[in-house]
Amino acid sequence: MERKTFLKLSSALIAAPLISPIESWAQQEKLKNWAGNLEYGTDRVYYPKSVEEVQALVKKCSRLRALGTRHCFNRIADSKDNLISTKQMNKVVALDANARTVTVEGGIKYGELCPYLDEKGFALHNLASLPHISVAGSCTTATHGSGVGNGNLASAVNALEIVTADGNLIHLSRDKDGEKFLAAVVGLGALGVITKVTLDIQPAYMMRQNVYLNLPMVQLKEHFEKIVSAGYSVSLFTDWQSESINEVWIKSRVDDGKNYDGVPEFFGAKAATKNLHPIIELSAENCTEQMGVPGPWYERLPHFKMGFTPSSGKELQAEYFIPLHNAVDAILAIARLGKQIGPHLFISEIRTIAADNFWMSPCRKQASATIHFTWKQDWPAVSKLLPLIEKELEPYNANPHWGKLFTMSPKVLASRYEKLHDFKKMIAMYDPDKKFRNDFLNRTIYAALNK
Ligand SMILES: Cc1cc2nc3c(=O)[nH]c(=O)nc-3n(C[C@H](O)[C@H](O)[C@H](O)COP(=O)(O)OP(=O)(O)OC[C@H]3O[C@@H](n4cnc5c(N)ncnc54)[C@H](O)[C@@H]3O)c2cc1C
Repeated sequence: MERKTFLKLSSALIAAPLISPIESWAQQEKLKNWAGNLEYGTDRVYYPKSVEEVQALVKKCSRLRALGTRHCFNRIADSKDNLISTKQMNKVVALDANARTVTVEGGIKYGELCPYLDEKGFALHNLASLPHISVAGSCTTATHGSGVGNGNLASAVNALEIVTADGNLIHLSRDKDGEKFLAAVVGLGALGVITKVTLDIQPAYMMRQNVYLNLPMVQLKEHFEKIVSAGYSVSLFTDWQSESINEVWIKSRVDDGKNYDGVPEFFGAKAATKNLHPIIELSAENCTEQMGVPGPWYERLPHFKMGFTPSSGKELQAEYFIPLHNAVDAILAIARLGKQIGPHLFISEIRTIAADNFWMSPCRKQASATIHFTWKQDWPAVSKLLPLIEKELEPYNANPHWGKLFTMSPKVLASRYEKLHDFKKMIAMYDPDKKFRNDFLNRTIYAALNK
């Protein structure tokens, strides 16, 4: 905690001895998201330590949102009234080696869970670019890594425990709850506070990461599928300023037997000779080890190391999911905007994600490629570029990332999610008084039908 905040907190506690043990008025100043591009609409943030405390808070508050590690760039986590941070609900509850599952509290970060799992001989199937994010907050927004055979992080969810609007607990599992479960996993924080998540695990594995420079765009056009399938997880970084992809990151499982060590060229791209950051000007100190050095899965799947600032820090992000068969055309369409995009961009990343069945997942029933943009933090400029990008991507049925910035209309969103109506019915069942409804949900999934 910053000294200034601590001093304010101490004096507030002295002046207010009747503070309830489950309330924490830790913030006198309004809390911001990780990137600092937005201030949350309330300074009333609670930090419960147990399911019972969450239940009591949910019963007590008439309006609230759950808050994870604050890594979203839009107002999906925001509330004008109350925020329940899951920061202190970050424990491993149980590891079931026979069932190959681990049950965790919703607020645990991947960076806290993964070393524990690895030590016990287990692993997750995939991770996002950074380990700093909470399990519940990531799964509920369909956060993803890369790999044609890898579903998003939510696809590892086996069961959920949720405190719903009446303060009661519900348990939903893949095996028992069918469509209800598929509705709840990518739930956009709309169904309640996820207090526990059970994830599928598998035996721990080793990985290596090899980076290639300057992949000619014409090679990508001709051999897209081979390139994105060249490893367990492949990421392509480009600034759209030349006829090539700046960096290709190939993350291979050692047990797959694919090894790029000593392979000097990859579809015309040249092997890097040192560790690199996706934004080539930045130090690779923050990045996971490359140059083919084998290491545990959780120290290769993310691009960024726990304990270091991921990405660039002061930035904005946007990302669009495109059905895989449209990927090349969509990439070429964005490349044509290169000149306009260039001055405002740090870097773009192209990844792939396997299809899933979650009602509100941007890759429901369709294998997808994503085109991501890490922007300089200049919202006036970015807010003009996003509609241009969305217009270019319109013919390819692009879906925006729920946790990043987008300007797509509710009508377009409604046309993309065939289960949206059913999802709203499910929300109405668990949250009839709109306790977990916020402006973000009103402006995105509710605005189209004026409900
Ligand atoms: C540097 C950086 C890199 C990123 N890289 C990737 C990436 O590789 N891939 C990718 O897909 N995304 C990426 N993201 C986006 C990020 O992973 C997602 O936005 C994710 O949702 C953040 O999780 P969080 O815990 O910070 O959630 P928050 O931002 O705190 O909240 C997100 C949503 O989850 C809900 N929520 C949180 N906790 C709970 C709970 N316990 N119960 C119910 N609802 C809850 C909130 O209400 C809100 O709706 C990145 C973001 C940053 C800043």
